[in-house]
Amino acid sequence: MIVKDWCSYCGECAGICPKNIIEVKEYSLVFDEKECSRCEICVKACPLNALEME
Ligand code: SF4
Ligand code: SF4
Repeated sequence: MIVKDWCSYCGECAGICPKNIIEVKEYSLVFDEKECSRCEICVKACPLNALEME
């Protein structure tokens, strides 16, 4: 997952991920990528359009 510079670390993506694999740190997002189902729910949920699936 690519996190753009303009991410505000609001945590909305982490809250909506059905697999609960996104962790919001102070200035980073950590994804448990092997558990990701690539559903793109987080990508669509981001209000700032700051996530991109590789
Ligand atoms: S929802 Fe978007 S802006 Fe908020 S933490 Fe996730 S990627 Fe960043
Ligand atoms: S693509 Fe789906 S499973 Fe993967 S991090 Fe985003 S919401 Fe979670």
